[in-house]
Amino acid sequence: MANTHNPLSAFYRAPKFFTAIPSGGKYYTPDIVEMPDTNDLPVFAMTSKDELIMKNPDALLNGEAVVQVIQSCVPNVKDARRMLSSDIDVLLIAIQGASYGDDIDVTANCPKCENQCSAVASVDTALTTMGSLQDSYIAEVNGLSIKIKPFTYANTIKAGITNFRSTRSLQALADIPDEMERLSLFNENFKQISALNYELTAESIESITFTDENGEKVVVTDRAHLTEFLDNADTSVGASIEEQITAINGIGINLEMQLECDQEGCLEDGNPYPFSSKVNFDPVNFSTAS
Ligand SMILES: [Zn+2]
Repeated sequence: MANTHNPLSAFYRAPKFFTAIPSGGKYYTPDIVEMPDTNDLPVFAMTSKDELIMKNPDALLNGEAVVQVIQSCVPNVKDARRMLSSDIDVLLIAIQGASYGDDIDVTANCPKCENQCSAVASVDTALTTMGSLQDSYIAEVNGLSIKIKPFTYANTIKAGITNFRSTRSLQALADIPDEMERLSLFNENFKQISALNYELTAESIESITFTDENGEKVVVTDRAHLTEFLDNADTSVGASIEEQITAINGIGINLEMQLECDQEGCLEDGNPYPFSSKVNFDPVNFSTAS
């Protein structure tokens, strides 16, 4: 008799609000996200179990924390790893709002001294600035139509782990007395970052279409063929793909607000220097705050 009705079920969490996502669900099958007809996803507050995993450094690094929290707080999400990164970022901000209220800490760099300044933004206002992703993105290069897909959360985790390792090994550099050894570790590190960027570029190619000599359209979707093409293509091809990827990844929450810098050199008559800037959200930051 395991599945008896729990009399406490009426007291379970209820959605705090509903939010749209940048992709509008266009890239998803129901095994990734079950999109409601309204295209707005219900967002619940975090449970104690969710809060706990967001404080686990290993789970944060390998993405497990974010995956669990998204799937717990936005039950329409079935497979967060296969979601697009811009959607994940938006959902994390929404979950923060649902769990801790509308105030959210944001940062921007002072245009005068580059100092990182912080401010408090409204989750609600931030969500209204969300951009939306198109159905598809095409880079036209050398007669080829290269269809590019936005980064998934799995890509972002991979990049995060590589960057973490890289930062670690660069920190270790200072302790190595031998200059040649330092140089070789530095080069090794550089190679790993380049290899990752190359891999992410290759993975983001969804298909390549061209017209053959008989006027027939040829569509290539074979992963091995696409990667082999990139290995043998002119460097301008990779560059224009990367350019598109950067533009796509910039689509998300775009909040511009007033901030102040109180660094010594920026004070004007003893008052902080006011500036207006697009702010950065650190969607995972809220977990480590308390
Ligand atoms: Zn400043």
